[in-house]
Amino acid sequence: MLQPGRRWQNWGRVEAAEPVYIARPTSVDEVCAVVQRARELDLPVKAVGAGHSFTAIAAAPGVQVDLAGLDGLLEVDSERRRVTIGGGTNLYQLPALLAPHGLAMENLGDIDRQTIAGATSTGTHGTGGAFRGLAAQLVAVTLVTADGGILRVSETENAELLPAVRLGLGALGILVDVTIQCVPAFAMHALERPEPLADVLDGFGARVEAADHFEFYWFPHTDSVLTKTNTRLPADAPLAPLGAVRTWFDDTFMANGVFEATCAIGTVLPPAVPAINRLATRLTGNREFTEQSASVFTTQRSVRFREMEYAIPREAVPDAVRGIRSLIADRGWRISFPIEVRAAAADDLWLSTAHGRASGYIAVHRYWRENHLEYFHAVEDLLRGYEGRPHWGKIHFQDAASLAAGYPRFGDFLAVRDRLDPDRVFANTYLERVLGP
Ligand SMILES: Cc1cc2nc3c(=O)[nH]c(=O)nc-3n(C[C@H](O)[C@H](O)[C@H](O)COP(=O)(O)OP(=O)(O)OC[C@H]3O[C@@H](n4cnc5c(N)ncnc54)[C@H](O)[C@@H]3O)c2cc1C
Repeated sequence: MLQPGRRWQNWGRVEAAEPVYIARPTSVDEVCAVVQRARELDLPVKAVGAGHSFTAIAAAPGVQVDLAGLDGLLEVDSERRRVTIGGGTNLYQLPALLAPHGLAMENLGDIDRQTIAGATSTGTHGTGGAFRGLAAQLVAVTLVTADGGILRVSETENAELLPAVRLGLGALGILVDVTIQCVPAFAMHALERPEPLADVLDGFGARVEAADHFEFYWFPHTDSVLTKTNTRLPADAPLAPLGAVRTWFDDTFMANGVFEATCAIGTVLPPAVPAINRLATRLTGNREFTEQSASVFTTQRSVRFREMEYAIPREAVPDAVRGIRSLIADRGWRISFPIEVRAAAADDLWLSTAHGRASGYIAVHRYWRENHLEYFHAVEDLLRGYEGRPHWGKIHFQDAASLAAGYPRFGDFLAVRDRLDPDRVFANTYLERVLGP
């Protein structure tokens, strides 16, 4: 059941762990047995997804539980458009699982490498003024709890726990399955354009309202942004995918291959970064296509980077982006990676970064071979000034005391943690920092 552990690193290569043991259960009973055995050995337990969190939230010093064996479709409720899938299911598996039932995820983030349990546990989100993050799409979960037992939480079973367990930071138990509220399959028209930064900031609120899914990328040291405006269409709308050569040129060669090379040049020759960024905005982001929704939402990211992302009240976004622009200019930094700006609807999950407010998301990145600390600290200070809440899976420097002030239901979440995991079987250093001991 338990095999000797191996060194683990996250995708961003900023966190690592040396688990004592690793477990790869293939049934819910085995997950229960793993938790019971870990307790006998007095070792903490941590489920790991795809390791795509930039924080140490998934670091497992004791027993690391890899749920890849608990994936796939378990149940379909066609009438209510709900599916139950294993917690270890990767997002990239979903289109093939949902399409035969005429269903799709309501919204997705930028990539599909994550597991459903990992993505929802950290509050992963996409963009869209009327759309909530992935965890808000969950309607029920099954957890293996700290005593090795099974707890079902749904609208009719232990419903009071739903706002906590749908976005639980991995602190409340191991999600062995989740039930997703899907929507009828749909296609999407994507329009990607370079536009002036000043215009896009002035019109940000209106653009978010007018489009189904609006976002933009601003390359520092330039005056223009790449906007993405996606419009939902019926599933049988005529598709107009990009040709294979164009897809390869844009997504593999330009977005990943050339970008990797320019980031590497920027690392050794920072003064070249502004010119490289100006070139990047000219060469990318001018295209239009229509495909099934999942193919439009998600792209590939092969250039490794580190990221910090904050949610702030949506109306504060233009001001905050202008502030980051001034900060970069004042400090004389050379930043090769774009700033990504998105939006989401308010939700009611206790630890959601969009809890109770229509949110704008501002994400800053640095190439993984560069030091991100000074830049991220300064941007964090600025965004905290807008009542910012950091993404749980992305780098930030907050702790339980500072985070509690931003979440009206933080205390309720801690009470659920005390109830479900009084002995802190699922704790790690990151959770101790952000939730307390
Ligand atoms: C290239 C890249 C692009 C990204 N794009 C976006 C984006 O567009 N939007 C966004 O919001 N975020 C984005 N992220 C962040 C990412 O979605 C989150 O960090 C997510 O948590 C990663 O999922 P994972 O499966 O890798 O989980 P991990 O990082 O492996 O784990 C995350 C947390 O989930 C817990 N967990 C995992 N499985 C279980 C389980 N079965 N039961 C209970 N807890 C569990 C872990 O213990 C840990 O606490 C991106 C990250 C990268 C690297």
